[in-house]
Amino acid sequence: MRHWTSTKGSFANGSTVWRRNHLHIWGAAFTVCFLMFVVMITPVYIVPLTNKVIRLDDLKITGPILSMACADGIPAHDVFKIDASRQSTRMSANVSGLGKTMRITLNDNLLRRGSPEEIQEVMGHEMGHYVLNHIPNSLIFFLVVIVTGFSLLRWGLSATLARWGNSWGIRGVTDIAVLPLVFFFVLTPVLNAYTRTQELEADMYGLNASRQPDGAAQGAIHLGEYRKMSPGPVEEGIFYDHPSGRRRIYNAMRWKAENLQLFQTQLPKTEPQSTK
Ligand SMILES: [Zn+2]
Repeated sequence: MRHWTSTKGSFANGSTVWRRNHLHIWGAAFTVCFLMFVVMITPVYIVPLTNKVIRLDDLKITGPILSMACADGIPAHDVFKIDASRQSTRMSANVSGLGKTMRITLNDNLLRRGSPEEIQEVMGHEMGHYVLNHIPNSLIFFLVVIVTGFSLLRWGLSATLARWGNSWGIRGVTDIAVLPLVFFFVLTPVLNAYTRTQELEADMYGLNASRQPDGAAQGAIHLGEYRKMSPGPVEEGIFYDHPSGRRRIYNAMRWKAENLQLFQTQLPKTEPQSTK
């Protein structure tokens, strides 16, 4: 009996130690669940706290957008407008929420300044993020990266401190708690590359869904108001979480060049002139 009790005790102690040593895993899992919940409630319950959201009833705008949504299997019946101009001049849109809270929203800056072609392409891009599950995929990716990264950091630090801590005069992990900041600095290009890849996928999806390459180019030029259009490859690789404006315009024009038949106006047929 004593033996059983001590086994049970050591098991309980062991599981407590395991839980303590893997707190970051529980923390990260809880954070991801919480973020999913926030993503779900944001369009319907959070956004209206700071901005006015109204149903858009201009068929010229909503018609092509809802048609594109229907074609791509997005269960939307309305398009909403948000008065984002209260906070900034940036033109944007999104397909947000999950399940019953899913919403297509355009901001008033995009509606005021964007051409119909640009609006359709921007919406195609946002639908790409939704259909390709970019938000849930990102959350899982960040969870894996953060948990793996911190586990490696913790393991590496413990091993290093056990070996050289005394000679360096460092007593414990808390003495070098600044290291996680270094970790995030090192990780920046990795996280940006992941996000940039998703943005490129959404660009391609948007072009194919909307068939508006000129709208895509107009959008890239508008974004150039606050993003450098033509960074060098190293600068783009490390610091950019979207493809550069130059790359986006190039991609849009390449798409247009391969689909020129969509843009050739039908010339009226004329009878061949007889030459005398
Ligand atoms: Zn995007």
